[in-house]
Amino acid sequence: MALEHPLLSPISRKPPLALTLTSTIQELFLDKFQIERSRPSLEALKEFEQSPIRPGAILTEEGEFAGMISRERFWEHMSRPYSLELFSNRPIHNLYEFVRADLLLLKGETSVVEAARYSLQRSPELLTEPIVVILSPREYRLLDSHQLLVAQGRILQLTTQLLQESSQKLEEANLELQRLASLDGLTGIANRRHFDSYLLQMLKQSARSRLPLSLLLADVDFFKAYNDCYGHLSGDDCLVRVATTLQKSVQESGNLVARYGGEEFGVILPNCEGNVAWQVAQTIRKNIVSLQIPHHRSRVSDRVTLSIGGASFIPEGVDTPQTLIQAADRALYHAKQAGRDRCIFQHI
Ligand code: GH3
Ligand code: MG
Ligand code: MG
Repeated sequence: MALEHPLLSPISRKPPLALTLTSTIQELFLDKFQIERSRPSLEALKEFEQSPIRPGAILTEEGEFAGMISRERFWEHMSRPYSLELFSNRPIHNLYEFVRADLLLLKGETSVVEAARYSLQRSPELLTEPIVVILSPREYRLLDSHQLLVAQGRILQLTTQLLQESSQKLEEANLELQRLASLDGLTGIANRRHFDSYLLQMLKQSARSRLPLSLLLADVDFFKAYNDCYGHLSGDDCLVRVATTLQKSVQESGNLVARYGGEEFGVILPNCEGNVAWQVAQTIRKNIVSLQIPHHRSRVSDRVTLSIGGASFIPEGVDTPQTLIQAADRALYHAKQAGRDRCIFQHI
């Protein structure tokens, strides 16, 4: 007959073990072979022969725990010359006096991980000895130490897997957090924080590469009046549509559209000369007009329009983003002064 693994043993009649980090040893397969210490060793011998998975025998005296002989020690001693003749018909406690070793007794609620630690702390010659599990004051079981280590191995695997999963989730959450921290809550485009850091980054890059850097600042015309006329929520919707259109108008990689503040947007155009940036500004302005968002209170048009100020330069080492922002802001001011719904460029 083929031997079955103790974990799958028909004796246990338990479903496969679902181990968790907090599993205790009473959840493992425990053997309950016990024998009164006054019974002959022959009885234990027969039992060990019939049930090859028994890790040992618990000795009792009138039902009370009185010791434990492991299968290994039992056979080791019984296979010595004359042992069979000497011990078979004598009380098993006689044999026990010869084979007794230090016992490891643990409560059933000891965790598998802790039990494995205690088990491995034993001296080398005791490492394979079964562990005595105390379920209640008069209820004792035996736990095969190999089985305990198998269970601990599975728990370690589980721990590693959980650690990997949680560190991956943490990484994903961090990335998502970083992404969210750089986006504007209303429009979903880049926020001012991201605008500032990206502009600084592009300025340094342009200073190194000696390539032009352009900036557009766009502002919705008469937007206060828009809110007054259509309500703040419609104002929000309008800003979302303007932001989306800006984003679609400037799709080349490296360009960045951001919400600069309230109803103002910034467009960073790296490696872009002034005249190209001016054309981009015109396209943006026309695309906004094409949205045909009604604006009856505007004094320049019957629909929503943008005024855009632009600036472009090849930065020197001493230049800061402020140089470019101030120039674009001046140009925007001029566009407003000149009648709105237009683009004006400022030379630096
Ligand atoms: P101008 O043409 O000179 O730019 O006039 P304006 O009315 O657009 O400029 P002003 O600075 O007087 O008003 C800007 C308005 O934009 C006022 C403010 O309530 C509105 N605003 C700013 N942020 C938001 C927002 O997130 N949602 C809405 N609905 N309105 C906003
Ligand atoms: Mg404004
Ligand atoms: Mg405005």
